[in-house]
Amino acid sequence: MADDQNTMNELHWLIDMVQTIEVGLVVIDRDFTIQLWNGFMENHSGVSPNSIKGKNLFEQFDYLPQQWLKHKMQSVFMLKNRAFISWEQRPFIFQFKNYRPITGRADFMYQNVTILPLTSLTGEITHLSMIVYDVTDIAINKLQLKAVNESLEVLSQVDGLTQLFNRRHWQLSLQKEFDRNRRYGNDTTLVMLDIDKFKNINDTYGHLAGDKVIQKISQLIQKSLRETDCAGRYGGEEFGVVLANTPAANALFFAERLRKKVEQSEIHFEDEIIKVTISIGICEIKPDITSSEMWLSFADQALYKAKESGRNSCITHQHD
Ligand code: GH3
Ligand code: MG
Ligand code: MG
Repeated sequence: MADDQNTMNELHWLIDMVQTIEVGLVVIDRDFTIQLWNGFMENHSGVSPNSIKGKNLFEQFDYLPQQWLKHKMQSVFMLKNRAFISWEQRPFIFQFKNYRPITGRADFMYQNVTILPLTSLTGEITHLSMIVYDVTDIAINKLQLKAVNESLEVLSQVDGLTQLFNRRHWQLSLQKEFDRNRRYGNDTTLVMLDIDKFKNINDTYGHLAGDKVIQKISQLIQKSLRETDCAGRYGGEEFGVVLANTPAANALFFAERLRKKVEQSEIHFEDEIIKVTISIGICEIKPDITSSEMWLSFADQALYKAKESGRNSCITHQHD
């Protein structure tokens, strides 16, 4: 008698806990008819256990991914194994509004769901249970971390003043283009450019004016690029552009157009109008170039010759 009393008590306790636990519990039979719907499910769906018991799960919630979910459930019945559905696979199974104190974070409740086979007294699997976990906090944190990491990655590649690639990232791209050329042999040309007598700009108008000039030249470079071109700030007022699928003769066109555009530009800083020119060195990859460092150094030598020859000009490296 005392044993029976204990068992009855335990059953009561269990039912109480099932009703109040902060986890969703649903029991369905082989026809997907709902047999149990706990307090968590009621609170978040607004549907009471009494009104939903005996109803078909998929008729009640027509947004459920029916075919996919049935397939999963049937395999639980057949294999007598659990199945897991992660929020990363599907953000949610049940469309619950997320009305918890942390508002403005997510419109819905992210969920992990376990589907569990339930054994009857005769040892058959006649029902299964869906256990629904609210993982909104975990999901939001993970998604935010991912977003932050992505923007950090962009930040670590981009130069703050010019929004062009920074030196480190640009040099990696230079190496990649060099390797690609070695493998596929497409024409690839490097253009190095440097602002003429830039020190004078700083000395005459001040460092902030100098910065504005660097920004303006960067914008002109950016505007001249095609999708596959890669431009970076190599040094203070020196820039590199890798032109894919472009032989030196075409790169010279690109360079001349850019040189003229800079020459014609007026840069306004406070009440001053500043005019600058650039010098350009060009070098296409040829068999005599055996490394990306050598490629860069030949383009730099051509740039140096452009400076020597009076600046505001383009010089192409002459291969032996
Ligand atoms: P050249 O025609 O031979 O290139 O002469 P230059 O004066 O341009 O060459 P040089 O390399 O001697 O001077 C470059 C100057 O650029 C020196 C440095 O103070 C300045 N500089 C480097 N980075 C920045 C920057 O971010 N902002 C500003 N305003 N100046 C910079
Ligand atoms: Mg310079
Ligand atoms: Mg320089």
